[in-house]
Amino acid sequence: MNSEFDIIRHYFSRAPKHALLGVGDDAALVACSPGKDWAISTDTLVAGRHFFPDVAPDKLAYKALAVNLSDMAAMGAAPRWVTLSLTLTEALAQNDDWLKGFASGFFALADLYQVELIGGDTTGGPLNIGVQIIGEIPAGKALKRSGAVSGDDIWISGELGNAAMGLAYLQRRLVLTAEEASPCLRALHAPLPRVRLGQRLLMLAHSAIDISDGLVADLSHILARSDVAAVIDLEKIPCSSAMKSRLSLGHTDRQLVIDCLLAGGDDYELCMTAPESKREAIVRLAHELDIPLSRIGKIMTGSGLTILTTTGNPVIVERKGHDHFLAR
Ligand code: ADP
Ligand code: MG
Repeated sequence: MNSEFDIIRHYFSRAPKHALLGVGDDAALVACSPGKDWAISTDTLVAGRHFFPDVAPDKLAYKALAVNLSDMAAMGAAPRWVTLSLTLTEALAQNDDWLKGFASGFFALADLYQVELIGGDTTGGPLNIGVQIIGEIPAGKALKRSGAVSGDDIWISGELGNAAMGLAYLQRRLVLTAEEASPCLRALHAPLPRVRLGQRLLMLAHSAIDISDGLVADLSHILARSDVAAVIDLEKIPCSSAMKSRLSLGHTDRQLVIDCLLAGGDDYELCMTAPESKREAIVRLAHELDIPLSRIGKIMTGSGLTILTTTGNPVIVERKGHDHFLAR
């Protein structure tokens, strides 16, 4: 039988590397670096809502940490410390393979980004994973949602819509070949948080957000916070060839993939705005980091988001993006 303390000691205790005090006391202790601000964020994953209850434990742990790392990326922060609030069912608390898988998925990603697990909480109940993350940013330099100004270019990293297409595929709402499905499932289960990119954007971008709820919803947060409007070109939004072929007029999946592209969420790519004077530097950065960065539109004065096709027709989005408390 695992007790609460067996689980903590066995699976989640490691000697601290940078923290002054890690797991095992009433609270962890960390030293604040001079000249830095802290970025603090938390994200919770709930079984049956954010993931299928039978998902592999390493994938689940990876995703729980990845979505938090993505929030650090969107602020331009270097992630440093995390805490983990784990609610486990009776069965999972006694399932050592599951716990081992969970810990290995968590620490694999934590090690990749050199974030340290310094504490948490372990309780019994329906499976629920809460991660809190703390990162550091040069003082006063954070990339906020409120920084966009009229004339800025709007940029997107990577491709959008893959995670939502992966989900539609698993839910049998969309048929994909195995070759088409594999990058979609990777985007859904193992998104790559754009941590290095975020830190490099501190000198280039005016504002940024990570796309967790869909481009329309998340870009709209920038517009509202910055009190500006935007126009984007549907055709310029970066997406896979599997999506492009289904975007053609008259394709039976067209509306579904448009919704994946614009309102799908879960891609954890970055959307940022930057002045035209930084275009060349951003293109160079894309080459250096080997991350595609696409310019999809402009920030303007006014309010609201307009999406145009090349023929100048506005696009209708049937889903506005994910919101836990709005009817879907
Ligand atoms: P308290 O009773 O003061 O809340 P706990 O008994 O809950 O302390 O936790 C004991 C120690 O183990 C604390 O340092 C806490 O931060 C850490 N801890 C508990 N659960 C986890 C977890 N899932 N991952 C990492 N550390 C954890
Ligand atoms: Mg506790």
